[in-house]
Amino acid sequence: MERYKGVTVCEGVAIGPAYVMRANKEKTRFTEDDDDAVMSAPGRVQTELLRLERALEKTRVRMDKMVLDAGVKAGTDAAQIFLMHQLVLEGNEFRNLSRICIEEGRMDAIDAVTHTGEALASKFAEMEDDYMAARADDVRDIAREIITVLEEGDDEPITDEEPAVKDDYPYILVAGSLLPSDVIELERDRVQAIVTVNGSPTSHASILANMMDIPMVVSVPLNLEAIEDGTPIYVNADTGEIIIQPDVDFTEEAKKSTDPSKYELQRAIGMETKTRGGKHIDLYANIASVVDLKMALKNDAEGIGLYRSEFIFLDRPEPPSEDEQYSVYKKLLTVCKGKPLTIRTMDLGGDKRVSYLEMGDKRGLAFSLEHQELFRTQLRALIRASIHGELKIMYPYVTSAEEVMQANSLFGEVKWSMLSEVGSTNIPQGIMVETVKAVEQIDRLVDHAEFISIGTNDLTCDLYGIDRYERANPSIDDDYAKLFMTIRNVVRTAHKAGLKVSICGELAARRDYASRFLDTGADCISIAPSKVLLMRDHIINCCW
Ligand code: PEP
Ligand code: MG
Repeated sequence: MERYKGVTVCEGVAIGPAYVMRANKEKTRFTEDDDDAVMSAPGRVQTELLRLERALEKTRVRMDKMVLDAGVKAGTDAAQIFLMHQLVLEGNEFRNLSRICIEEGRMDAIDAVTHTGEALASKFAEMEDDYMAARADDVRDIAREIITVLEEGDDEPITDEEPAVKDDYPYILVAGSLLPSDVIELERDRVQAIVTVNGSPTSHASILANMMDIPMVVSVPLNLEAIEDGTPIYVNADTGEIIIQPDVDFTEEAKKSTDPSKYELQRAIGMETKTRGGKHIDLYANIASVVDLKMALKNDAEGIGLYRSEFIFLDRPEPPSEDEQYSVYKKLLTVCKGKPLTIRTMDLGGDKRVSYLEMGDKRGLAFSLEHQELFRTQLRALIRASIHGELKIMYPYVTSAEEVMQANSLFGEVKWSMLSEVGSTNIPQGIMVETVKAVEQIDRLVDHAEFISIGTNDLTCDLYGIDRYERANPSIDDDYAKLFMTIRNVVRTAHKAGLKVSICGELAARRDYASRFLDTGADCISIAPSKVLLMRDHIINCCW
């Protein structure tokens, strides 16, 4: 038995045979001297240019399918990732640089794409903006897809290795690192878990695994050469523990703690989310689309604690109109059928950038206040839609009480101006506490909000001074003690002021932290739709 420890991306426990993804898909080829002679043959440059153009077109068609697959398997956020790939593919830079490599660098098409992919990826990797830097892997992914197409055209197999894991057999995927297209191509029913040597929880590959609810652990110091396909592996993605070749007794014992089956989980539908000791908590879901919402309702979420509205503002040439927004919000409220829906106003700025506005350095509510016309339009659409259900709105990335006061008065003004159109409406307004500044001003903030939602993703980064897209560091050595202490203080202050507190953010979906979140006194946790039943089952059966 060899034990290893890594960083959790998506929880779950599994035991199964390894399938090791060798580095064959990541091969980097540059023009060898021999190729010069080949490339100088008459007409060869034209042939390579033609191969390149055909491969770009074929890849574009494949990407269309990936966008669709991603949407079906993992929702609209996932589809967005591949839409961004398409934008890079269709932009001129990739194509032009590859052509130059062929025409002037005398490279063949595969080398030209490899070289271009690496050059553009390095350009991204060096960018100061961490979000952009993390996009280097996306460019590599695109380059690899084109190379795959080129190699198929050459009738070269990508690999001559046959997986030792039988075709229809469930397996644990082990790899050096994964790119988004590796993950979206996986068959969810066969992949029990993913383990990678590199990677961070915020890479697009990890985000996809999370959306597809595949248990995943990254940053595990494995020697891939020493692991044969078919080797038994135990993955406890709740704790980050990996065991290669677990012994028989251990395996028998561990099998008992693997996740309940989907069938077993159905028993949690309709049950109250209450610990064995009688502590109740509301269990809501975070969503970004109607598809997510339907999954949340199917999994019996009691409401929606976070709808990230900014996604309808991204990747388009102009902002969505009031009518367009109204129809999205109305649809969500209608599908919700009376369950509470919390729509977060656009959290733009930071890593969420749009092409049609000057971005500056403001984020969240401060950004919205700086673009008041856009903000008013969103508020109008929300107020119009509110008659279709139980709408709450909340302001993101709050950094001061003054911002919230300003937002409240803007909201009041807009609402007043719509009185004859929609009548009087009651829409609770909350704030997200996800910055240290908000924590520091919580005494004042509670006087200007009707509920609080704590965003652990940003708050953790701000509290510990780490970057959201930084390589995972497993040793936040106080095991989030500072975070939980902060949450407890915020909950205490909010409760004193009569406000309820919800916790959203990925950490709230970790079952190994469920008891700690319950102990903070929070009234609600809001988590990914796919995790709702697992969490309810866990709270009912394992927490006090
Ligand atoms: C958070 O920061 O925890 C949060 C839920 O917001 P987002 O992940 O959208 O920044
Ligand atoms: Mg946030």
